Amino acid sequence: EMISCDWSSDVCSSDLTWGALLGASRMHGNAALGEKAAKMIFALEPWNAGMYVLLSNLYASSGRWPDVGKMRLKMRDTGVKKVPGYSWVEVQNKIHTFSVGDSTHPESHRIYAFLEELDLRMKHEGYVSSTKLVLHDVEEEEKEYMLRYHSEKLAVAFAILNIPTGRPIRVIKNLRVCEDCHTAIKYISKIVGRLIIVRDSNRFHHFGGGVCTCGDYW
Ligand code: ZN
Ligand code: ZN
Repeated sequence: EMISCDWSSDVCSSDLTWGALLGASRMHGNAALGEKAAKMIFALEPWNAGMYVLLSNLYASSGRWPDVGKMRLKMRDTGVKKVPGYSWVEVQNKIHTFSVGDSTHPESHRIYAFLEELDLRMKHEGYVSSTKLVLHDVEEEEKEYMLRYHSEKLAVAFAILNIPTGRPIRVIKNLRVCEDCHTAIKYISKIVGRLIIVRDSNRFHHFGGGVCTCGDYW
């Protein structure tokens, strides 16, 4: 399902406040506060798969593996399925859509080569992939998912290659931007000297010069 997007507005989602609180708890590793926020969100929006994923990640980051397992069961019991992530970007009046590890795009080769080049430059600047931190206790399938390029990275790379310098890059994602991609896009904005705007399911992120306007709360 596509998100219709009003670029002039910064707020689209009803769960913004609790979602922001949950995001903030994750940043500070405060699982108790995160749980409180998540319960409020589940009461309001029990179908919101993004919230389950966010809370799972919060538990994972504080090493609470039994709770990560419980969240998985809860998602299954309530019929909430992980919604596949998609990102899309408009280039020359055409919408280009990407999914995780996507290799169906005609420019795939160029995109992956560019991402590898960016990876090296990011590491040189101090970037460490945050997926490494939670890899030891995730299922194989998820591990593979985490190690592949997410849709937002593919869309951003494609846009940089195809949108003339000086023009902002606008990417839309149907789910929240993950922590690793958020960090990576901050580095990328600095390395390529571009303004990158990502509208995710929760808010706008304006990346430029190595920082994001969300202040890492989302
Ligand atoms: Zn990601
Ligand atoms: Zn941001």
